[in-house]
Amino acid sequence: MIPFNIPPFIGTEETYMKKAIMNRKICGDGEFTKKCNAWIEEHTGTAKALLTTSCTHATEMAAFLADIGPGDEVILPSFTFVSTANAFVLRGAAAVFVDIRPDTLNIDEKLIEDAITPRTKAIAPVHYAGVSCEMDTIMEIAGRHHLKVIEDAAQGVMSTYKGRALGAIGDYGCYSFHETKNFSMGEGGALLIRNPEDVLRAEIIREKGTNRSQFFRGEVDKYTWMAPGSSYLPSDLNAAYLYAQLEQADTIFDARMNIWNRYYRELLPLAEKGCLELPTVPEECGHNAHMFYVKVKDLDERERLIAYLRKNGIYAVFHYVPLHSSPAGKQYGRFHGEDRYTTAESERMLRLPLYYGLKDEEADYIAEKVTSFWK
Ligand SMILES: *Cc1c(COP(=O)(O)O)cnc(C)c1O
Repeated sequence: MIPFNIPPFIGTEETYMKKAIMNRKICGDGEFTKKCNAWIEEHTGTAKALLTTSCTHATEMAAFLADIGPGDEVILPSFTFVSTANAFVLRGAAAVFVDIRPDTLNIDEKLIEDAITPRTKAIAPVHYAGVSCEMDTIMEIAGRHHLKVIEDAAQGVMSTYKGRALGAIGDYGCYSFHETKNFSMGEGGALLIRNPEDVLRAEIIREKGTNRSQFFRGEVDKYTWMAPGSSYLPSDLNAAYLYAQLEQADTIFDARMNIWNRYYRELLPLAEKGCLELPTVPEECGHNAHMFYVKVKDLDERERLIAYLRKNGIYAVFHYVPLHSSPAGKQYGRFHGEDRYTTAESERMLRLPLYYGLKDEEADYIAEKVTSFWK
């Protein structure tokens, strides 16, 4: 059986976790948390990166920092994970969903401006499959309307747009290090902050609303409650696991890219025959091989392909139930404009296994089985 995902393991995780234990510092902001923050800052050019307990929590922090409140509206795609919407809904805002582009499955930048109202506070683009949204256009619209941009770059670590790291383009960027992502700490994430003036507030929100970070730096002589906040900093044990992988990020990146390219090459004949569609990566986007998906004719064909692959020992999966058709999405959001692609595309996409450690022979076998489905 070939599973859909196996969490990444590079081999040095145990050594680093042991080091964290021997440091006698396993709570947040120890040696490895700092090393991970520095790695992200160096590789993305963001002013500040703060490791968090998840991408979900990084997005919640961004919603706090952007001063999202009751009655506000945030524009995002409906084709995304629930966390993109939840973060704003938790602050009392409404989610305004906009249709996606059929090529990248990212929010259609041309439809955003029409969805803006006097209540709009922010745009939350999601870089699906680690392929960037059209960020120049989105940043230009946000600038003209004085909106914050919060990038859901959960899938976009090590991806670029016109040479710039995803997550470091908007006001705030949110990374995920969940075990299903390219680099992992089990559960975890990071918040990227572009404006240095936001850093102190972010540290306070992340440290239960206290200025403990400043206290540890010796900038204040006691720490106290400064603002509403929560506990968004992860254990240094988890950070140690992640740092082992960040240190060898190129190895993981290359291995995933090799599989991605293999799938693409081996499935191209099927695409040329019109059996399925392959992912589109616009020229200005450098992707990170987070995901390999194909698009088939419709829901029925997808079900048959999943069953056929399962019979051959391959676990292929799909997502997302569009948020605007979910119970909470109906209550806390609305779809602006026409749903031309969101539902239709979500019903015909299928993700193939892709993880660090998947063997060439296994990828070849999977591509072969996808091909034989149409024979
Ligand atoms: C994985 C993912 C998240 C959530 O990440 P967590 O770290 O599990 O909270 C959010 N948005 C997108 C697009 C994701 O793929």
